[in-house]
Amino acid sequence: RTMEYGPAPEANEEVSAWLKARAAGIGHFIGGKFIASGKERFATVNPATEAELARVVQGSEAEVDAAVKAARGAFAKWSKLPGHERARYLYAIARHIQKRERFFAVLESMDNGKPIRETRDIDIPLVARHFYHHAGWAEMVESEFEGFSPVGVCGQIIPWNFPLLMLAWKIAPALAAGNTVVLKPAEQTPLTATAFAEICEEVGLPAGVVNIVHGDGRTGAAICAHEDIDKIAFTGSTEVGRIIREAIAGSGKKLSLELGGKSPFIVFEDADLDGAVEGVVDAIWFNQGEVCCAGSRILVQEGVAERFYDKLRRRMETLRVGNPLDKGIDVGAVVSAEQLQRVSALVKQGEEEGCTLWRAPGVLPERGYFFSPSFFTEVDPASTVCGVEIFGPVAVAMTFRTPEEAAELANNTRYGLAASIWSENINLALDAAAKVKAGVVWVNCTNMLDAGSGFGGYRESGFGREGAREGLYEYFVSDVEKALKPAKEAEIFIPRGAP
Ligand code: NAD
Repeated sequence: RTMEYGPAPEANEEVSAWLKARAAGIGHFIGGKFIASGKERFATVNPATEAELARVVQGSEAEVDAAVKAARGAFAKWSKLPGHERARYLYAIARHIQKRERFFAVLESMDNGKPIRETRDIDIPLVARHFYHHAGWAEMVESEFEGFSPVGVCGQIIPWNFPLLMLAWKIAPALAAGNTVVLKPAEQTPLTATAFAEICEEVGLPAGVVNIVHGDGRTGAAICAHEDIDKIAFTGSTEVGRIIREAIAGSGKKLSLELGGKSPFIVFEDADLDGAVEGVVDAIWFNQGEVCCAGSRILVQEGVAERFYDKLRRRMETLRVGNPLDKGIDVGAVVSAEQLQRVSALVKQGEEEGCTLWRAPGVLPERGYFFSPSFFTEVDPASTVCGVEIFGPVAVAMTFRTPEEAAELANNTRYGLAASIWSENINLALDAAAKVKAGVVWVNCTNMLDAGSGFGGYRESGFGREGAREGLYEYFVSDVEKALKPAKEAEIFIPRGAP
């Protein structure tokens, strides 16, 4: 993750001009038109400066309904296009995003607070990669998914931590398979989704294939409740995932949930400790720890624990926290005042529960929602900070004696999204990997995500996969299943509180 150039001034100017031109309000994108009417508006704020960037219209049931109607209207034609024709649009979207990479990187960093080095080297290139990858799949749909048809109109709800990347994870496979979509970005980070809608317009994507409706949880709930939506794809907190699961029970809608995590980061005593320290930087301080698969529970074998913690503290001293648009910055701002308050409260609780807090010593900027990279030691596995997803730059660290104990501690969680294992002995690492219940396990690396590799969780981290062939199945329905499906599915009983 190196970087040769900083944010180009012209990209900043382009973003300023883009925001200025939309000062009257950021609108929805429905049926190929931008609609900025509606009384209720909310502000999106730059978390590094606390300055308002734009005002955005809040979608009501009426806008959700208009978007679903547009998507339903477009579905008839779009789903019948040969795959290679749909692929042309996906390739064009990917190319346009690449051409405007700098613009998107700056806009995303301003809206979310993440360092420009990450948006430019990781987020935006992965967005383009996702569209290229799924353009390839679109070309092969007829041969590779014989006996399957697109699901129909998909309602997609995404979080704020990787705004444009989460949009790509949702829209690219849906479109490749022949579906049309109504997507709601997170209210904290609506800007790149709007710039994306402009790209849909530029490439001539048929009106109604992609619809973007802005708003908070009320808009999300209206999407889930809409009768003419065939599938809901949600990424966000386990709590909201549970609400959605209950809300759509018995509706016959297909569902995939990508939820939270508390992923173990296991360091065996024969590991390359310096490599593992860099791994922690990527696991929990990357993207301010606002990563669903963040390695937030560090488990270190007892014999090397003190040496490892020393190295980690020394590395923490060199991390630079500050202006996300500065190319030398490692850790940017937390997304919102609310999230900063949540992280701070959990850290306070960890201290009260007797855990020892190690905080990076650097001075934080006076303005903005910044939090120092930190980790806890002396952690009781029963403590709140050990069980709860902090979703900030804060890890907990514990020790273990044997590989069996490592696996036991690793699985002592209600989540099951990811795990990272560090050892120079590949047999030991693979053996441990097989014992950890997680959707993805990395060995001697972490947070490696690619469009060609399925991603998703077990237990309270959700179900369904995104990316690769398995992710595409979420956007198809088999002809057999279709033939068996009654006109209106019978009520399915889901006990309250079921994950
Ligand atoms: P959140 O659940 O509060 O919000 C996510 C989205 O859901 C937002 O767009 C929000 O407006 C919407 N929403 C809120 N209430 C709703 C309701 N009742 N019905 C429908 N939609 C509703 O989560 P967040 O704070 O935005 O994101 C952080 C969480 O997301 C973390 O827990 C993180 O682990 C998880 N996450 C998971 C993955 C993954 O792939 N597993 C990826 C990124 C983030």
